[in-house]
Amino acid sequence: MSKLRLATVWLDGCSGCHMSLLDMDERLVDIAEKVEVVYSPLVDSKEFPEDVDITLVEGAVGSVEDEEKIKMIRRRTKTLVSLGDCAVTGNVPSMRNTCGPKAVLERLYLENVTIQPQIPSEGVPALRSRVCPVREVVKVDVFVPGCPPSADTIHLLLAGLLSGSVPDVRLLTRFGA
Ligand code: SF4
Repeated sequence: MSKLRLATVWLDGCSGCHMSLLDMDERLVDIAEKVEVVYSPLVDSKEFPEDVDITLVEGAVGSVEDEEKIKMIRRRTKTLVSLGDCAVTGNVPSMRNTCGPKAVLERLYLENVTIQPQIPSEGVPALRSRVCPVREVVKVDVFVPGCPPSADTIHLLLAGLLSGSVPDVRLLTRFGA
């Protein structure tokens, strides 16, 4: 049987959801036998490939780069999973929606800096005016709440998807952190 092509990405998140994925510990071995990890911050991959079966998305959509990336990923993915509260609701990154990107940049690069305060114009992705959950930009197939979702939840999710079923989100919530 051919392996399913799995990708994981993080957008505007803290990497905690990926740490929870790794917390599956020895269960990762079982999962690894059934998937080929074709793109992830956890492996050495540069380009998001075509024909991905499952993509787990951590983080909200906070920058123009995030928005372009998730649209491209959606086109190349069969089953897109919002993994964790930032992807599902906006969560912590969306707290900046109360003040807007200009105030955040000024706080970071001007007000708290003593040497050469300046807002960078290159090398930093342009922020969107509003941080939003993934579902506001592209269609999402499965929502997995939690900050982060527990390792048990992620295992339940992957075991279900790998056996060809979409897990019951109520079960995922019950197992969630
Ligand atoms: Fe981090 Fe929580 Fe957001 Fe996951 S849901 S990226 S753990 S803040």
